[in-house]
Amino acid sequence: MKRVGFFYDDIFLKHIPTGWHPENPDRLRGILDTLESSTFSKEVIHLRPVKATMDELTAIHTKEYVQRVAETTTGYLDPDTYVSEKSYEAALYAAGAVAEAIRRIKAGEIDRAFCAVRPPGHHAEKQRAMGFCLFNNIAVGARVAQSNGFERVLIVDFDVHHGNGTEHAFEEDPTVFYFSTHQYPHYPGTGGRNDRGKGKGEGFTMNIPLPAGTGDAEFKGIYNEVLVEVSERFRPDIVLVSAGYDIHVDDPLADIRVSNEGIVEIVRGINRAAASVPVVYSLEGGYNIKALSKSVLITIEELLYD
Ligand SMILES: [Zn+2]
Repeated sequence: MKRVGFFYDDIFLKHIPTGWHPENPDRLRGILDTLESSTFSKEVIHLRPVKATMDELTAIHTKEYVQRVAETTTGYLDPDTYVSEKSYEAALYAAGAVAEAIRRIKAGEIDRAFCAVRPPGHHAEKQRAMGFCLFNNIAVGARVAQSNGFERVLIVDFDVHHGNGTEHAFEEDPTVFYFSTHQYPHYPGTGGRNDRGKGKGEGFTMNIPLPAGTGDAEFKGIYNEVLVEVSERFRPDIVLVSAGYDIHVDDPLADIRVSNEGIVEIVRGINRAAASVPVVYSLEGGYNIKALSKSVLITIEELLYD
């Protein structure tokens, strides 16, 4: 059995929309209830995240943008992305969760981690909020990983939407490989197959755009063959995962048709690609609460026992 850290804090329930919104606190309540009523709750190591520091945030975002988020306590920062009174604090902990998981791994306390955070992160750009995301949690984590000696970082993003913010953060950087599968064409519109990185980073981005209706068999092949080959070539020191469960067949926001069995295959493929190096998951999307909760539970089971 692997030692799996489960990172969560109640602050994540305090990022609250004014009206109905798919990205709402019930998502995490569902995950927690499902985990607590399972046997895995006693097998994971329950840990608390810490806030990301200004230095950690400004490795990815501009100081002006961080201050803008800090000063905004209501309304919207982009047409999809609301802010409430405690959103900045929640976002600091969300961005700090992957970072804390990495430090705990470095200290030898855990082998793998799942960060149950919100707001999500992968659409957040250097100087703007986007697609429900305030700070780019996985991108902040990638730089913290490097400052902890994990020099080569493989980011795997299986959210149904392309992680435009993450790709842009590292597109010229050959030390961070960005691998993404996503529905295409679909929001946010980026992530075409020909976007493979720029300059020194050329060849260190791989986008696998998928048509609506793509299901388990295709995902199994991509994650157990293509991703494993990428990892064997790149030889990462750590794997960070943007875990978006809006790929589930029951998700209301997109049209990819991955079942619970497909989630198992994806997580096993990522475990295989990681081989002996640590893996840290950070929650991105997933808007059918039942499907989301079950998918996270499946992920945790595979992290514990695969
Ligand atoms: Zn998504």
